[in-house]
Amino acid sequence: MEKLFERSIRDASKLMKLTEDDHNLFRRVDQACDELLIPEFEKYIERKFNDQVPVILRKYDLMGIPISKKYGGGGAGTLVHSLTLERFGQLGLGVVTFVDVHQALGCMTLQEWGTEEQKQRYLTKAATGEVVLAYALTEPEAGSDPVSLKTQFRKDGDDYYVTGSKYLISNGSVADRLIVFAYPEGQAKGMTAFLVDSKEKGFYVDMKLEEKMGLFTSDTAMLSFDNLRVRGEDRIGEEGRGLAVAYSALLNGRIGIASGCLGVMEDCLNQVKERVSSRTQHGKAIGKHQLIQRHVARIASNLESARWLTYQAALKKEEYDGNKTDLGLRSEADRISAVAKYVSSRAAFESADSAVQCFGGFGYSILSPVAKHLIDTRVARIYEGTDEVMELKIASTVLGKDFEAYR
Ligand SMILES: Cc1cc2nc3c(=O)[nH]c(=O)nc-3n(C[C@H](O)[C@H](O)[C@H](O)COP(=O)(O)OP(=O)(O)OC[C@H]3O[C@@H](n4cnc5c(N)ncnc54)[C@H](O)[C@@H]3O)c2cc1C
Repeated sequence: MEKLFERSIRDASKLMKLTEDDHNLFRRVDQACDELLIPEFEKYIERKFNDQVPVILRKYDLMGIPISKKYGGGGAGTLVHSLTLERFGQLGLGVVTFVDVHQALGCMTLQEWGTEEQKQRYLTKAATGEVVLAYALTEPEAGSDPVSLKTQFRKDGDDYYVTGSKYLISNGSVADRLIVFAYPEGQAKGMTAFLVDSKEKGFYVDMKLEEKMGLFTSDTAMLSFDNLRVRGEDRIGEEGRGLAVAYSALLNGRIGIASGCLGVMEDCLNQVKERVSSRTQHGKAIGKHQLIQRHVARIASNLESARWLTYQAALKKEEYDGNKTDLGLRSEADRISAVAKYVSSRAAFESADSAVQCFGGFGYSILSPVAKHLIDTRVARIYEGTDEVMELKIASTVLGKDFEAYR
């Protein structure tokens, strides 16, 4: 039987020409995923960060998939990167969160906004996995409305000193470097992005957030900074351009999450196929009961509709990457990546719910292969822009600027 990931590669090759390099990458991702299957299961049961993810990704040279070869990355375009996240998604959103944050929110942001010196100094290390990245925008009082964040910076000579706290930061306690957003002291405008060193004095991991509903294998932390020094050359982009840096990162990140959710649906479909063919009730395989077939049909159609939409978003982003001065293309890429994340995360949540239903009582146990998908995909409707924020964004593109719910 053809594996679903192979089918995705075949379908993607109808949308763009895949090279031998791409196929080689897919083989390595497949091997890494096979190797991660058991550690991911074990860590999920222990409710611990899966520290094998960076180890195995480094082993297969997968830490910098979307980064230019010039900086030690894999040189993959957005669609190829999206396909790799789809494959990681079969393991669950814990793995996807690590990869998406490090690569899409971290590495790709450095590639887009960093100076040549920053790229040589940091991106090369991030792309090879020597350095793990995180992205710290959210604060206790600023989530959907990042403009209201409170973290501040003070300039002293060439250096900056950052003070404040960040909440719900993925990779937060394991990252070597974090992209942190702050306002100039005493001001609520001029947001600026910095590449912070977690080993610097004044950097604190206040708490590892381990009481999460799920996503146990992903590290989530609450951080604080007390006069944390950032060298002048470690500012990302110009002073005052922080919000543009933050939003461009989220454009990449949302395609990654939409792609990861495709993998979740593929795993749900695979697991359900096996379960409903082998489990017998009322004298026949439960898959022969028509109401169970409805669940199978729901997962399959959710996957199919979200898949093409996500590929379309990836291709639009790729088109924009090839023509960075075209702002119309950028806003189109932004719009469709929001639609893809919105549709794919909801489809994955509904599919995981159907998968749990097909598994019956066992499906309610985290020892089953599907419970984690139901628990974990819930977060995809919250992070990197909630359902409501995506809805407002999509609606304003239909109704026009005068109808923007907030600015
Ligand atoms: C496991 C996990 C990992 C995360 N990782 C990161 C990370 O790595 N980096 C990072 O910076 N952040 C991260 N986040 C934070 C995440 O991005 C925020 O939780 C999210 O943006 C929502 O912000 P909030 O939690 O403050 O909710 P709020 O903004 O308080 O929203 C609460 C509710 O109000 C709704 N709402 C808010 N404003 C409006 C509006 N104008 N109209 C209609 N409804 C509205 C929201 O949609 C939501 O339903 C993570 C979150 C989780 C749970």
